[in-house]
Amino acid sequence: MDCWTSSFELRKHVFDSLKELNITPSSQRGQNFLIDSKIINFQVNQADIQSKDVILEIGGGIGNLSKCLASRAKKLIIIEQDKRMANFLTSFLKDFTNVEIIQGDAVKVDLPRFNKCISNLPYQISSPITFKLLEHTFDLAVLMYQREFADRFFAKPGTKDYSRISVMINSKANCKNLKTVKPTSFYPQPKIFSSIVSITRKEEVNIENYDSFSAFVRLLFTNKKKTVRTILLNIIKRMEKRDLAVERSILDSLQFMDRRVFTMSLEELVQFHKHIKKRIGEELWLNIISPNMK
Ligand code: SAM
Repeated sequence: MDCWTSSFELRKHVFDSLKELNITPSSQRGQNFLIDSKIINFQVNQADIQSKDVILEIGGGIGNLSKCLASRAKKLIIIEQDKRMANFLTSFLKDFTNVEIIQGDAVKVDLPRFNKCISNLPYQISSPITFKLLEHTFDLAVLMYQREFADRFFAKPGTKDYSRISVMINSKANCKNLKTVKPTSFYPQPKIFSSIVSITRKEEVNIENYDSFSAFVRLLFTNKKKTVRTILLNIIKRMEKRDLAVERSILDSLQFMDRRVFTMSLEELVQFHKHIKKRIGEELWLNIISPNMK
């Protein structure tokens, strides 16, 4: 059964709640609330919530999605930064004994255990929160992003949207673009379109030393238009004891030398990382790359 029976009912909830709170939504905090019942019902259906699911919602706002999640899941944990909204959620959801509300910045707080993350994200934290989610194991995420940001998940090497997040998300997860959402589905209306994306973790990630790979990709993509040779020379310059023979063997041994970073596929980057680590030696490599590791 649908969670909201009509957009009229949903809009009434949004406008009445904002009036009660006496709040003007803050664009800096991404406070754009869904007023289209079809979109929320769609997200809830896509989440395929089972009675065993522990759901994480980032940015509960005034509870228009939270209510639907709480009534279906075993547990719902909401992280909401705005204190007034966190307090509002506590009273709005008081009849649900399976709800936990954490008031704080989702980028900074330790994420609790969850198996699904269903959220209309505040767009200004899209990048850090996606990287943070990828550090956790979970079954499914159904997330709303700014459309241009979500497009990067599906960007092919060599295109302008291809970036660090394209590589990293595809190294750990399978993504599907589920729906484009118009600005009119929100109050207040944002200037941009949005996309709902589903993310499922890949069962096996065949990357040696993932932290080192992640740091390597970060380093490469700070200069994604440069050639691999230029970046590699910069890396070599950081080596404490430089050995010309080793340097030459590194530079001569890589087939990708004249490629620009943003043209390299995930598979090529994995191969490149494995190769360079072997050439330089694991210990020395980790010394070089560690400033870029979190
Ligand atoms: N869940 C509601 C909905 O679907 O309409 C509201 C979503 S609204 C796009 C984003 C919410 O995230 C706002 O309530 C905002 O206060 C909250 N928020 C903004 N920055 C945050 C952060 N760093 N951590 C947690 N919540 C945040």
